Amino acid sequence: MKLIFLGPPGAGKGTISDLAVDKLGLPHISTGDLFRAAVKDGTPLGLKVKGIMASGGLVPDELTIALVEERLARKDCAKGWILDGFPRTIPQAEALEKIAGVDTVVNFDVADAIVVDRLSGRRMCRSCGKIYHVKNMPPRKEGVCDVDGGELYIRDDDKEAAIKVRLETYRKQTAPLIDWYGKKGSLLTIDGVGSPTEVLGRFEKAIGR
Ligand code: ADP
Repeated sequence: MKLIFLGPPGAGKGTISDLAVDKLGLPHISTGDLFRAAVKDGTPLGLKVKGIMASGGLVPDELTIALVEERLARKDCAKGWILDGFPRTIPQAEALEKIAGVDTVVNFDVADAIVVDRLSGRRMCRSCGKIYHVKNMPPRKEGVCDVDGGELYIRDDDKEAAIKVRLETYRKQTAPLIDWYGKKGSLLTIDGVGSPTEVLGRFEKAIGR
């Protein structure tokens, strides 16, 4: 099964992916996580994308497409995947068509006000990347990851100015993909508002699991 998770930043794509991978046995491929790992490791790619990510803008298509192409060629992708955060532009979607077919595109529908609340309260584990929210999904111990005890931090792009840029970027560059995939007949839209368990339930029902 080859799935794409589409939706604005903060729509819950990463959270639902984390829950769905266990059930579906598919790898979760998040371009944001791949870029953050490159930044953390200080690789040449990481140095190129650090500033772009912190401002809330998009990494250039060529770099992003090359990264995804390489990742999808690995063995664990043979049976399918969940792509989270890619494609984010029409040229990326066109490139993906040449790399691999897509079965279903799941569009998480969430209003802007909720997105802003989710992103401004989001915390992420510095070592494993697990996502929390100070009010909606707090860790057992403040500032500490439940899974591996890592430090929880606020992403640079979860600060107010970057959130605004990300929402604008989403509207201009990514939202047109909803129509694009809709015309191809592979789009499912689900309501992304509610607890992770509720949204996971809607997702499973939508894909017939
Ligand atoms: P979110 O979905 O919460 O906005 P991600 O973790 O998916 O965040 O992405 C973080 C950042 O990584 C983006 O704001 C962007 O700078 C970069 N990025 C991730 N995926 C892509 C992509 N497909 N194309 C261009 N840039 C990307």
